[in-house]
Amino acid sequence: MKDYEALLDRALIQIPDIVTEKSRFVVPSPKTFSEGRTTVFDNFGDIADVLNRDVDHFLKFLLQELGTAGKIEGGRAIFQGKFPFEVINSQIDDYVEEYVICSECGMPDTHLIKSGRILMLKCDACGGHRPVKKRRIRTETKKEIQEGEIYEVRIDAIGSKGDGIAKMDKYTIFIPNVAKGSIVKAKIKKISGTLAFAELVEQS
Ligand SMILES: [Zn+2]
Repeated sequence: MKDYEALLDRALIQIPDIVTEKSRFVVPSPKTFSEGRTTVFDNFGDIADVLNRDVDHFLKFLLQELGTAGKIEGGRAIFQGKFPFEVINSQIDDYVEEYVICSECGMPDTHLIKSGRILMLKCDACGGHRPVKKRRIRTETKKEIQEGEIYEVRIDAIGSKGDGIAKMDKYTIFIPNVAKGSIVKAKIKKISGTLAFAELVEQS
């Protein structure tokens, strides 16, 4: 138990690093409410503006993720069906990660360009570019993680105490002895809320 508390202390010290990196770019929370059998996303247009993305592209993504039909009406988007705030919020996060944030420098000053048939995200801040990822299958990415299980994760950052940090859905996973940017297999030793502590099984 002492070890675990020590881990938790280290984790809490490390977390401000992550928060600071993300706080440069703040996406407003979606304002949503249900109206009859539809869900109104009231500040849809404002969020598209902040993201500097085409409303049609943004809408198409959300409709695909929600698996529903919908339309834009003024600055609002209206979806068929009832969708909780958390669902819409997490899909906006996915959109930002995939279509807005530069994976090289983490800045949001990017635009989408077509290179042949491939959609690329080009960064105005650092000049970096990458193909936009193919959509993942959501049922695979949204599962809860479990103690004792092994997962393949990407090390996004190294914390101030030297542990690798990987994100998996809502979880922040700490793994010692790994390199930034590497894809590793890690076994979950302990989960505390959305924090997880793992040990390295295999580094590729
Ligand atoms: Zn960049």
